[in-house]
Amino acid sequence: MRPIMRPIQATISQSALQHNLAVVKKHAPHAKIMAVVKANGYGHGLLNVAQGLNTADGFAVLGLNEAIVLREAGFKQTILLLEGVFDAQELSTAASFGVDIVVHSAPQIDMLELAQLAKPINIHFKMNTGMNRLGFTPSEYLTAFHRLKACKNVNTITLMTHFATADEAPGIAVPLALFEQTMKDLNQPEPLSISLANSATILRHPQAHADWVRPGIMLYGASPVSGTPAAEFGLKPVMTFTSEIISMQTIQAGESVGYGNRFAAVKPTRVGVVACGYADGYPRHAGQYFADGNQRQTPIAVNGTLTQTLGRVSMDMLFADLTDIPQANIGSPVELWGPHVSVDTVAEAAGTVGYELLCAVAARVPMKVQA
Ligand SMILES: *Cc1c(COP(=O)(O)O)cnc(C)c1O
Repeated sequence: MRPIMRPIQATISQSALQHNLAVVKKHAPHAKIMAVVKANGYGHGLLNVAQGLNTADGFAVLGLNEAIVLREAGFKQTILLLEGVFDAQELSTAASFGVDIVVHSAPQIDMLELAQLAKPINIHFKMNTGMNRLGFTPSEYLTAFHRLKACKNVNTITLMTHFATADEAPGIAVPLALFEQTMKDLNQPEPLSISLANSATILRHPQAHADWVRPGIMLYGASPVSGTPAAEFGLKPVMTFTSEIISMQTIQAGESVGYGNRFAAVKPTRVGVVACGYADGYPRHAGQYFADGNQRQTPIAVNGTLTQTLGRVSMDMLFADLTDIPQANIGSPVELWGPHVSVDTVAEAAGTVGYELLCAVAARVPMKVQA
């Protein structure tokens, strides 16, 4: 017997993942690719995306548990913990699974010096070049580097930093110059491996591709640069988030829909009720009214035709304007985001970015993988 389910679904396209990985390769043909699959593969399912990206040279995750899931699923490539380890037990487990770690703080070096590891571990040694989130400042970097060089538990050292404005006007010139100067000050006879570039850097700053690139959002087919659609970079959306119309209402001028009566009709309006709400990860702020009296319109597609949401998003439902889609009815397919409605345009209407919406797709949404 078929289980009875709400019609909502997220479909993950493996061919779109492979296509986007090829876009990374085209931009940075000489770099190794560390596919960033943190946050459950940006909400797409860790193993779903790792399988689609299995020709990448490495995977970057946050938690050791995610790294172990990948190792146990048979992935042999480099796996990197982006914040490193949080205690000595994690360090020894990471070493025994052959997982690389970021080292960004002095206590992490203390841990390395005190540990008895199964085998030496590969380090991605993080410099803080102005984002002021993680990493050693340029003045601390040299001392820390010599501690790592002298540590018997350290195998290879890759130098890394992360840029705060690779996607915006200030660009990366200042932090990149700081990184390069500090690297010179290390005064190493052999060139060291370097890792600098997130998606925005890959697409906008080819001078910083270096040895490893670390693409995240572009692999999922969303844009790292607000105002530039992902399609302009040749990227394809990986997730198609769909549902169906489950109820129809025709309202007259002056009548409203939803909590707070946030949409009031000015003419007879056909309203479709969609089985998707904020508990599924759809942003409640999409299309709300603002103090200036304007409502940001949020695109949504019904029967393949572009229309807009109406009123306030509820926990389990939202409203779509069907006035100009007369053939729409109960059971009509709805695309919340995907090939017809870019996740970035929904994010913009909600005052956020595609990253946040993708990561927030709720566990209750069934996920299907498609070739
Ligand atoms: C998340 C992350 C990335 C990927 O960033 P995108 O903008 O998604 O490409 C790269 N490097 C680090 C250190 C990160 O934390």
